[in-house]
Amino acid sequence: MKRVVLLGSTGSIGTSTLKVVEDLPGELQLVGLAAGGNIDLLAAQTGRHSPRLISIQDPAKVPVLKSRVAPGVRVVAGPEGLLELATMPNADIVLIAIVGTAGLAPALAAIRAGKDIAVASKEILVMAGEIVMGEARKHGVKVLAVDSEHSAIFQCLDNKPPSSVRNLWLTASGGPFRKTPAEQFASITLDQALKHPSWVMGRKITIDSATLFNKGLEMIEARWLFDIEMARVQVIVHPQSIVHSMVEFIDGSVLAQLSTPDMCLPIQYALMYPARADSARVQTNFARIGQLTFEEPDMGRFSALTLARRAGEIGGTLPAVLNAANEVAVDGFCHQTLSFSGISQTVARVMDQHSVVSQPTLDEILAADRWAREEAARIVATAH
Ligand code: NDP
Repeated sequence: MKRVVLLGSTGSIGTSTLKVVEDLPGELQLVGLAAGGNIDLLAAQTGRHSPRLISIQDPAKVPVLKSRVAPGVRVVAGPEGLLELATMPNADIVLIAIVGTAGLAPALAAIRAGKDIAVASKEILVMAGEIVMGEARKHGVKVLAVDSEHSAIFQCLDNKPPSSVRNLWLTASGGPFRKTPAEQFASITLDQALKHPSWVMGRKITIDSATLFNKGLEMIEARWLFDIEMARVQVIVHPQSIVHSMVEFIDGSVLAQLSTPDMCLPIQYALMYPARADSARVQTNFARIGQLTFEEPDMGRFSALTLARRAGEIGGTLPAVLNAANEVAVDGFCHQTLSFSGISQTVARVMDQHSVVSQPTLDEILAADRWAREEAARIVATAH
């Protein structure tokens, strides 16, 4: 029985994780849950799974939450609550599925407490990949990917060293604007951007999938997770989202992992690793799928990929700046103060203005994150 702490239990990844836990009652047990503001769902999840410790973002909501769960459940709050959950003595693995940067400190705390981590929140490795992976090596813990692309690469690599890899191939659905002409980008609406062709996900990642910033963040994530420099991390558009990613080895052989898209599969793989557990949830019917197609991404329309490659190659504080500026720009787009094409323009401007610190400490990364947020907010405020 693996004891699991889940940070971000009320979100898209969080609720899929609960399904996986319910699929495997004898194998997985939830011992801690954290949510942002959705008290109703967190209370319901607590009733169903009986974790011993739960956390909510706002300390003012603790009394209400307490009144709605069993007396034996401890309720904590805020960033300290997340740290307490991440270091729970009886937890084996901590799955981090919080949007934004709030997952970074708990990820490091869990690693330092000797816990394996399963990472959905890509911000963690984008911002501080070198530090996180270095700490994981030092403490002898695993960093397991929840993102379907990185789970696919991990499964294909099967512990082969980086020297055996010619290229990692991240597949991208291409998002809803794969065929939209460049001149229409400025007038894309929020509703259009929220309609992803193959995945149902949280709001931020759905917009990132439309700009392809999601793929850009994944390129940087892959660079750190698999210790492969950016020049060997490639992107290919595959609209059916059946091939989740591929590894091209130095002998020319390419291994791919395939299935119908369902996040429960990579979540289950990360939580059960190294075992494979029996589950009927994901079924793939190739005759019905019919064809798998691939095409080059259009770097002209989707500058996110070029910006991410640049950030990953230069490294230092630049990936954190890209990530933070993008978060603020996406928020601006969601509040209709920034156009769709304004998102990548804002990120590019903030990156251009940044003085990169190489080999940064965690404090320097967090300072770059704050700086980029302020710069991006200034640009968004003056946009119309
Ligand atoms: P959602 O927006 O659906 O969920 C986010 C979760 O984080 C919610 O449970 C939310 O709580 C919680 N949360 C937000 N801020 C805090 C905080 N400060 N403290 C505690 N909890 C907080 O996002 P997704 O599930 O889509 O994505 C989560 C992460 O996983 C992202 O980094 C995303 O990039 C990544 N990811 C997502 C995939 C997907 O298919 N959705 C695929 C691969 C990666 P509440 O709702 O209660 O406010």
